[in-house]
Amino acid sequence: MTPGQRLRRIANTLNLSTPLGLLLARAAGARCGTGPRGLTIAAGYRWRLPHAAAFTVGNVVLYRAGPASAGQDPVLLGHEERHSTQYAWCLGLPFIGLYFLCAGWSVLRTGNPGTANFFERQAGLAAGGYPDRQRNGHSTRASDANRGRT
Ligand SMILES: [Zn+2]
Repeated sequence: MTPGQRLRRIANTLNLSTPLGLLLARAAGARCGTGPRGLTIAAGYRWRLPHAAAFTVGNVVLYRAGPASAGQDPVLLGHEERHSTQYAWCLGLPFIGLYFLCAGWSVLRTGNPGTANFFERQAGLAAGGYPDRQRNGHSTRASDANRGRT
C-alpha cells in the first residue's frame, strides 16, 4: 500500500464511510474479503438497489457477483477505487448527497445518471459502463456549443 492509499483508508475509516460500507455489506448478505490497495471486496450483495454490478461506500467495493469473480476486473475495480478516493476528498458521507445531486443533474441533461455526473466523469465513464453521449448522440461539450445556435 502506498502512503496515499494508507491515508485514504484511515480517512475513510475516521469519516465513517468505510464502517457504513461494512455495515451495508453485512446487512445485504455480502461476504467481505481483503482487496488490493487497502480496499475491501464485498461479494454477493443481494439488495435490488442500486442497479449496478458494483458500487463503493468508503473503502468497501460491493459486488453483486460472488467471491470467485468479484474484484477480478481491474478496469471496474480501478473505477470503484477512484470513488473510494472521492469519499475521502468529500470527508466521507457528504459524498453520497453530492453524488446524487450530480446524478440528478446528469439525468436532466443526458437521460443517464452517469454521463454528466462529475464523480462518474472523474472516475472514468467507460470504465464504469456509462455512455459518453447525450440522448441525441452528440457529445456533452458539442451540445453545449450548439445550444442557442438553432
Ligand atoms: Zn462509478
